[in-house]
Amino acid sequence: MVKDIEGSYRDSVATISKEGKRNFINPKKPKGRLYNLRTAFSIFYLVVFFTIPFIKVHGEPLLMLNVLERKFIIFGMVFWPQDFFIFGIAMLTFFVFVILFTVVFGRIFCGWACPQTIFMEMVFRKIEYWIDGDAAKQKLLKEMPWNAEKARKRILKFMVFFSISFILANFFLAYLISMDKLLQYIKTPSEHIGTLISLSIFTSVFFFVYWWFREQACLVVCPYGRLQGVLLDSNSILVAYDHVRGEPRNKHAKKGEEHGDCIDCHACVRVCPTGIDIRNGTQLECVNCTACIDACDAIMTGLHKPTGLVRYASENSIKEGKRLIFTRRIKAYTGVLTALLALLVFLLVSREDLDARLMRTSGMAYSTLPDGRIANLYNLKLANKTHEDIPFTLKLENANGEIEYVGSADMLVKKEDYSHLQFFVKLKPADVKGWKTLLKIGMYEKGKKIKTMTAKFIGPETYR
Ligand code: SF4
Ligand code: SF4
Repeated sequence: MVKDIEGSYRDSVATISKEGKRNFINPKKPKGRLYNLRTAFSIFYLVVFFTIPFIKVHGEPLLMLNVLERKFIIFGMVFWPQDFFIFGIAMLTFFVFVILFTVVFGRIFCGWACPQTIFMEMVFRKIEYWIDGDAAKQKLLKEMPWNAEKARKRILKFMVFFSISFILANFFLAYLISMDKLLQYIKTPSEHIGTLISLSIFTSVFFFVYWWFREQACLVVCPYGRLQGVLLDSNSILVAYDHVRGEPRNKHAKKGEEHGDCIDCHACVRVCPTGIDIRNGTQLECVNCTACIDACDAIMTGLHKPTGLVRYASENSIKEGKRLIFTRRIKAYTGVLTALLALLVFLLVSREDLDARLMRTSGMAYSTLPDGRIANLYNLKLANKTHEDIPFTLKLENANGEIEYVGSADMLVKKEDYSHLQFFVKLKPADVKGWKTLLKIGMYEKGKKIKTMTAKFIGPETYR
């Protein structure tokens, strides 16, 4: 709960009315240095977002997160379920990084780089200002009875929002299944009903979020937003109101009493997309969009006072004039992050391009052939993580035996694909060293050994 200037406590969120209905926020269009910087950054961000699905490395997408097929390509490197532990470590590293970053820099990510904020504030909201006008005009339009102007604006906004949601859904799907596949599926929609259904669902979700749900995604759904309460401390840098300089507010100071720099103009509240008053302190609803900084800076400039009454600052720096402190918590997070990064680099560097799992076929004992030789049946599963086909041959390395393939064994693992084959290993009794003999099987590509696999060969005890 946040204490306001009158001493009462805010016990509700600005976006929900006393009756429990949705209060739709119409923030005033922000203007200023930080808004311009965020606009420039978001243009760069959007160019990158819409370009990545078209970039290929060795004929494969630069980034693809195919959850259904459990195939992930990150910066051209293919990750299969066998690499799941690398993926897990990468995710863990990412989460620790996010935690560490949040402890120090608060929600700077939310304001500058979160896709929800970028699309909401820098795409859909700008279009809304363009069609409906600024906050006051939006409210007028909402309250006016239906007429030709209102219908025209609503239809136009609906069409533009829906079209962008549809484009977004396509790109979102391209990140999941690759742009090539998406284009191929779109050309033959009747054969790919699943793709059409996915596109319809994604489009509807995006449209719902940007047309109606808006800031509720940050307030209610986003787990990162909900975590702020445990991640932030009084040394975290946030968008904050300098209450030492601002209070008592001009309007609230008694006659003749000295007052702070805040003139209680509410400019910072009017621009807030989550409807809060930053002067009430750090609040979970604040997405650090910086709109209130720009609004207050404009007021301070007009009053010929220094800017920065609302600025990026930590609670302690405002209260005690302290600089950022490298706390024990930050040191601990840094240590864990460094260890995880080192492990991740090691796993990536030592990752094998061809994953081979050789196992004796379970549930089958050895068999004795009419010529006296002993045979064991093996299963070999291969995963080719490279962008080239790998033809191969197998050779016994430490025994004079024979390898006989079951069926028409395909001695090739296609690029980024799996292969599975079965084969018998037949050994003379002289080469069988009792119940368990350790076999070494070499895998060769064009005569060059690329892998040595080991497996157990079982035989009768009497041969020991
Ligand atoms: S309080 Fe300021 S930074 Fe936080 S969401 Fe509102 S306008 Fe953005
Ligand atoms: S914009 Fe600045 S001066 Fe105006 S109410 Fe907000 S903090 Fe006070």
